[in-house]
Amino acid sequence: MDGARPSTAVVGGGIAGLAAATALAERGVAVTLYERLPYLGGRVGGWPTRLRDGTAATMSRGFHAFFRQYYNLRGLLRRTDPALERLTGLPDYPLLHGSGTRDGFRHVPRTPPFSALGFALLSPSFGLRDLGAMDPVAAMPLFDVRVPDVYARLDGISAHDFLDAVRFPEKARHLAFEVFSRSFFADPRQLSAAELALMFHIYFLGSAEGLLFDVPRAPFPDALWNPLADYVERHGAQVRTGTPVEHIEPARDGGYRITTDGDETPYDSVVLALDAAGLRSLVARSDRLGDAPWRERVARLRTAPPFLVSRLWLDRPVAPDRPGFLGTSGFGTLDNISVLERWEDEAARWAARTGGSVVELHAYAVAPEAARDVEEKRLVDQLHRVYPETRAATVVDARHEWRADCPLFPVGGYPDRPTVRTPDPRLVVAGDLVRGELPVALMERAATTGFQAANALLEQWGVRGQTLWTVPDRGRNALLRGLARWASG
Ligand SMILES: Cc1cc2nc3c(=O)[nH]c(=O)nc-3n(C[C@H](O)[C@H](O)[C@H](O)COP(=O)(O)OP(=O)(O)OC[C@H]3O[C@@H](n4cnc5c(N)ncnc54)[C@H](O)[C@@H]3O)c2cc1C
Repeated sequence: MDGARPSTAVVGGGIAGLAAATALAERGVAVTLYERLPYLGGRVGGWPTRLRDGTAATMSRGFHAFFRQYYNLRGLLRRTDPALERLTGLPDYPLLHGSGTRDGFRHVPRTPPFSALGFALLSPSFGLRDLGAMDPVAAMPLFDVRVPDVYARLDGISAHDFLDAVRFPEKARHLAFEVFSRSFFADPRQLSAAELALMFHIYFLGSAEGLLFDVPRAPFPDALWNPLADYVERHGAQVRTGTPVEHIEPARDGGYRITTDGDETPYDSVVLALDAAGLRSLVARSDRLGDAPWRERVARLRTAPPFLVSRLWLDRPVAPDRPGFLGTSGFGTLDNISVLERWEDEAARWAARTGGSVVELHAYAVAPEAARDVEEKRLVDQLHRVYPETRAATVVDARHEWRADCPLFPVGGYPDRPTVRTPDPRLVVAGDLVRGELPVALMERAATTGFQAANALLEQWGVRGQTLWTVPDRGRNALLRGLARWASG
């Protein structure tokens, strides 16, 4: 870099903004990170709360799986935790269907393509008859997933219709695939089949890590974001939590003026690392940003339906054999149950002291018009069905978090999503809503696009950026790739 240190405003302090801020600050850019909320981490943030029994606790949107394929996110976390000791592995990804069928991924071989085949053969959800009834030609796109080609092929149909075309067995569909589509917080009828195929590639056919994952040993602020905030500050960044950006104005010198409630500051460049609604409204308020087609595309971004995270502090423990995490389907709205004291130190201390359990329930893609109190009660009723010992428990305290801040990837929506680069080279976008050319999703997409946004700015100053890693960007097996090409004509 020649001359004065360039400056960048990073707007949004979730994973994407933190990744961008880290890569820029490490390379000597003067970074200011603006976050609307009083804490960092965005959707993976945590905030203090006090329980009825007087205990200080940390609430959050709760359980997040840090998959082993999240190479770039793990690289970000390694900045402050080189051996990733603040994460701990859970032994399996167990799944339970309302009919009583149980599945898991621990015993499934990890080497592709035996991972997919192994899951099918070991799973009680797949009969041999089911396998024989599947349409192998319709399933072929799954065997050679490339980004962005997969969007050209599958963005025009829904995940639900794609699975119908493949004649994927009903029970296995709930267990293996709805887990993915619901982790996009959407009904499979609304979700682009391309996103589903991408998940299949990331977890089954494109990598050897499978569906095994880690979770933080402590609440998110302690395990992840407070250490990272200290790290970027040590690299000269300013972290301004509790500071929403109201307006961004291009300046005559090619930079930008950032306006908050209290001040207006000039920067050479800007990273927009907001959630979909935040990006839409900031761009709408900042009417000279980008160009008209870009602004129209941002205005069309949609948000997935609301989700509910209920955390219950119970006066007695769940049965000792209950896993730390259980994916569920076929019970109604319940998508998963976590028993927090199995892996989180704060919950473990509370459980040890009181003899109780801290249990968390997730329900994704709840109907927007649903009555909240009814849904909250319904979710707890489903817990009673899955873990009957909880029926007798008294709820010492509960938190019910309703949010609707995950991006929706609707059928045909791919062309509308913003890319990292915008019509203006000094204005870049990052986040899990961003359309990229790498096979990544969710938290890993946030981290990867955050680094890509930083790299896009650094290259203009002649500085080498962050090296990125992903699972292979095509099907791994040459024979299956050939078959997929043949099937696509
Ligand atoms: C319940 C739940 C469970 C999940 N489970 C998983 C999982 O198991 N695995 C996985 O990989 N992913 C999971 N996800 C998804 C994951 O949380 C997201 O993909 C990821 O956190 C997105 O990060 P981001 O930085 O793109 O966006 P965000 O975290 O949304 O960050 C955007 C930030 O911008 C801020 N902002 C908005 N407007 C402004 C403004 N005007 N000025 C300043 N700041 C502003 C927001 O407050 C927010 O902090 C889950 C999400 C939820 C909600």
